[in-house]
Amino acid sequence: MGLIVQKFGGTSVGSVEKILNVAYRVIEEKQRGHDVVVVVSAMGKSTDSLVALAKEITEQPSSREMDMLLTTGEQVTISLLTMALQNKGYDAVSYTGWQAGIETENIHGNARITNIDTAKLKERLNEGKIAVVAGFQGVTAEGEITTLGRGGSDTTAVALAAALKADKCDIYTDVPGVFTTDPRYVKTARKLAGISYDEMLELANLGAGVLHPRAVEFAKNYQVPLEVRSSTEKEAGTLIEEESSMEQNLIVRGIAFEDQITRVTVCGLASGLTTLSTIFTTLAKQNINVDIIIQSVTGTSKTSISFSVKTEDLKRTVEVLEEYKDALDYEQIETENRLAKVSIVGSGMISNPGVAAEMFAVLAEKNIQVKMVSTSEIKVSTVVNEGDMVKAVEALHDAFELSKQTAVI
Ligand code: ASP
Ligand code: MG
Repeated sequence: MGLIVQKFGGTSVGSVEKILNVAYRVIEEKQRGHDVVVVVSAMGKSTDSLVALAKEITEQPSSREMDMLLTTGEQVTISLLTMALQNKGYDAVSYTGWQAGIETENIHGNARITNIDTAKLKERLNEGKIAVVAGFQGVTAEGEITTLGRGGSDTTAVALAAALKADKCDIYTDVPGVFTTDPRYVKTARKLAGISYDEMLELANLGAGVLHPRAVEFAKNYQVPLEVRSSTEKEAGTLIEEESSMEQNLIVRGIAFEDQITRVTVCGLASGLTTLSTIFTTLAKQNINVDIIIQSVTGTSKTSISFSVKTEDLKRTVEVLEEYKDALDYEQIETENRLAKVSIVGSGMISNPGVAAEMFAVLAEKNIQVKMVSTSEIKVSTVVNEGDMVKAVEALHDAFELSKQTAVI
């Protein structure tokens, strides 16, 4: 007998019928003799609908009121699920984030959890109750209601699992696990039996979407075993742990990709020591997220710098660069749209040199031009034309044999 935290995402609680199914999955664990804490998201797309409602009133709602609005979504689900559990004869009680003792920093819209006071939850669990907690929300020391950023219910679940020293945290979702790449694009994509925290963190940051990156960070820091699994199927999902014991030998574990990338090149910059810091400090101050950066010194006195941004941020990026043209002292800006980022991820890269070279060779063989590159210990990202994106992913998936399941213990 142990303590299990179960988290159910929006699609898994999208209707009354689905909430009843969730109740059944919770009861199953309870019947196995476990203590259970359940974390839920808002029903279906209701967070999006709330955002849209606010937009009907103002383009720039205050972030405090947005948090007030969005936290209502999860509150609907906790009460309905708790009613469903009670109706089946189980002793359950629902809590908002603040009732559950989830304290956050004083930032609206994207707050980090700073502390969890688990006293109340522990008491309820000792009484044999099932605790149902609203995901994605917390409270500041000043008593202000905050949210953890879109997709943040995962983080609530993992943080609670860490604070309560749970034996396991199961993330139930509408897909059966973490795949080698997006199965909607690549037919041979395979569900991974396991993946390491570090690999998952890279994939989550590269937009893989199954898990909130901060949830993976928490899981790693507190060594919480995580499983991503289907809320409708019984099959095992993907186990996320320090070192995957389920998948072996593969150098590349997964491929992430993202379209709508733009390359911005600032040409004719005076090549001083502070050029780089000035330009990127200026962009950072305006909250523009720059991804891959390439600097090439063309002459002795002039340099140009290229970087990639999400296409949706291009307009603001150019506005900022133009506004600071004098201070930055450049000649012109060039932009290239319709690009995509394709990244390979795998812990095995640390001890296997030549993976990047192999990636470039595979892409070259398919006549795919690589426009930008960035690497980390366990990742290589390339920027290619958007039209080549799926072809690149398929070729890499094939070349690195990702559809083959390697030794399972
Ligand atoms: N309901 C919130 C969202 O849609 C939080 C979550 O689902 O994790 O982002
Ligand atoms: Mg999610």
